[in-house]
Amino acid sequence: MSGPELLHPASKGDVVEAVRGAAADRRRLLVAGGRRHIDKGNPAEIDAELWTTQLDAIVAYEPAEMVAVVEAGVRLAELDAALAEGGQEWPHDAPPDATVGGTIAAGALSPRMLRHGHLRDTVLEVELVTGDGRFVRGGGRTVKNVTGYDLPRVLYGSLGTLGVLVQVALKLRPLPKARRTVIAETVEPIALGTALLDGVPLPVSVLAEPARVRVRLEGWPGELDEQTARVREVLASSGADGNVIDGDPSFPSERPWNEAPIVAEVAVAPSRVPELVPGAGTVWAAPLGTGLLWAGLQDAEELAALRERVAAAGGIAPVVRGPGGLGEGPVAAPQVHRRLKNAFDPQAILAPGRGWGGW
Ligand SMILES: Cc1cc2nc3c(=O)[nH]c(=O)nc-3n(C[C@H](O)[C@H](O)[C@H](O)COP(=O)(O)OP(=O)(O)OC[C@H]3O[C@@H](n4cnc5c(N)ncnc54)[C@H](O)[C@@H]3O)c2cc1C
Repeated sequence: MSGPELLHPASKGDVVEAVRGAAADRRRLLVAGGRRHIDKGNPAEIDAELWTTQLDAIVAYEPAEMVAVVEAGVRLAELDAALAEGGQEWPHDAPPDATVGGTIAAGALSPRMLRHGHLRDTVLEVELVTGDGRFVRGGGRTVKNVTGYDLPRVLYGSLGTLGVLVQVALKLRPLPKARRTVIAETVEPIALGTALLDGVPLPVSVLAEPARVRVRLEGWPGELDEQTARVREVLASSGADGNVIDGDPSFPSERPWNEAPIVAEVAVAPSRVPELVPGAGTVWAAPLGTGLLWAGLQDAEELAALRERVAAAGGIAPVVRGPGGLGEGPVAAPQVHRRLKNAFDPQAILAPGRGWGGW
């Protein structure tokens, strides 16, 4: 049996043509970037895959503006390298072979969000091709820009169900002058992590894992030394020790939970994370203070049990790797979601069934 047809548009015009052709024949399309989160979402039956990886131009980058305009298929490694030359970054923390468009459409959340905020807020402008082949632009290239509805936010996490992102404008931040990770082994990662969160001024991340806590610090060298002194005081008062690694560029440098057959991304109120850790599998990671918890699970049974407890805590647990879909998250105002889907993709050719609510 042959697989889905593969479409490789090389320009925005090619995307318009490809989507119009698919809409005319009612062929169902999956948009694919770097395929690192291609499992996320409910299963969708498709006839063709539209690959964005040839839309790979950095359209405009002026460091003084702190904005980059890039096509959606640009790989993150390439973006990072270009921005580093201007002394800046887009603080995504996703894998280097992922694409900008895929990272936005997958609704990526960064473990550094404690300090840098939600990546969603850095997407200033989007250009997309809707499911009926219309070219649409939303947002604007300045930070205070929105007239009308905020389309970049609608597209963030839309999993390729509303349109094909072809270009975006991203708000950037200066690269930190120094970076440091302090790793402390512990049998009580949540208690120690909470003490570090309370006791250290402005860490970028306090990542609790089954037998350790990793504290990420970024800023000026003197600032990091002061923060490190506080980390050491907190560790000493808990009877723990810390191993300092300087200058490691990516955080977290290893992600063992991603090796599990199923990875769920739990989102709850930050105060509810500790009660969910028992049952989050043998490999998990919680960037404390953000309400996130990545749980590495073995099978559907473990996932179902975790989801039950997450629902009781008022959160959601979509699977980001492996089988399991989005789960039974409550969809606020489902009729509005359905109308949005109808407005962007009237023939439902874009990953039908993939989104929350099954449309
Ligand atoms: C902190 C952090 C750590 C992560 N760690 C890992 C890791 O270790 N390993 C790993 O594999 N992943 C990891 N991820 C996930 C990773 O961010 C996403 O998988 C990735 O950024 C998605 O990009 P992609 O190009 O691979 O998208 P894809 O996987 O190709 O697509 C993701 C979704 O977006 C849709 N889509 C893709 N491109 C477009 C577009 N142009 N327009 C509309 N829809 C589109 C697809 O249909 C799909 O639904 C991590 C993410 C974060 C934030």
